[in-house]
Amino acid sequence: MEIQFLGTGAGQPSKSRNTQAIALKMLDERNEIWLFDCGEASQHQILNTAIKPRKITKIFITHLHGDHIFGLPGFLSSRSFQSSDEQTDLDLYGPVGIKEFVLTGLRISGSRLGYRINFHEIDSAGKIFEDDSFEVYTDLLDHTIFCLGYRVVEKNRVGELDANALKEAGLPFGPLFGKIKKGEVVAYDGKTFDPKDYIGADKVGKIVTILGDTRKTKTAVRLAWQADLLVHEATYEASESKMARAHGHSTTKQAADVAKEAGVNRLLLTHISARYVGPLVGQLVREAQAVHANTFVAKDLYEEKIG
Ligand SMILES: [Zn+2]
Repeated sequence: MEIQFLGTGAGQPSKSRNTQAIALKMLDERNEIWLFDCGEASQHQILNTAIKPRKITKIFITHLHGDHIFGLPGFLSSRSFQSSDEQTDLDLYGPVGIKEFVLTGLRISGSRLGYRINFHEIDSAGKIFEDDSFEVYTDLLDHTIFCLGYRVVEKNRVGELDANALKEAGLPFGPLFGKIKKGEVVAYDGKTFDPKDYIGADKVGKIVTILGDTRKTKTAVRLAWQADLLVHEATYEASESKMARAHGHSTTKQAADVAKEAGVNRLLLTHISARYVGPLVGQLVREAQAVHANTFVAKDLYEEKIG
């Protein structure tokens, strides 16, 4: 998995930072990309990346402030401009109201989509998605309006089968290998083959937590517990905690405190106020690193591998 930031600014676009959008690229794991928030001009930012819009199969919205959702109607419409056999359905998760916002925008602009949107409006904490390989949990943060954080959990996968060891032990290559891989004890030619002797340790899945706008809150610590990566907003520098509280946001230090309390590995900060440019960004990095060393302030189009 990789994470790529399409917008890292707070409130409104600036010359150096677009409004919020984050792509969680899961191409190796499930040939999909999940988008978290979709600020205005997210689709323009996507043009500067390798991301194909049809690969975006899920969008998770944290809250209904404009800098997190104004890119939706445009992106969803443009996603429809591709040949009909490339149209893939899309799941859209977010607070109650997101369906009305999207459908109204599409209806009034006369936009018709070549694919289906499945809306999942969320009004409480809990598990919102699960399949064979991933789970997604959400919980309520502490912002000025209803705002969600998301915890994406990759399930552990069965370890590698040691095929050579099996062959040497006398099991001919074939369907019995599959049974052992599934965890069944196999008898062959008077011998017993136990999966635990031939399958390596489980591959531990990654945990990625992406939060919407929030004051420092225990919910954030729970959502980020032992995560490989936490993406946390840091709208203000450490000395502006009063301002952060008044506007429902966090400082660099508060975000780093959450990362430390939750025992996360990597912290990436986003939603940076436009007042911080040039060397001032370095100050933000230093403030956060003083609390949680493995921290970085993301910039637009920045990408890194998770774990
Ligand atoms: Zn907000």
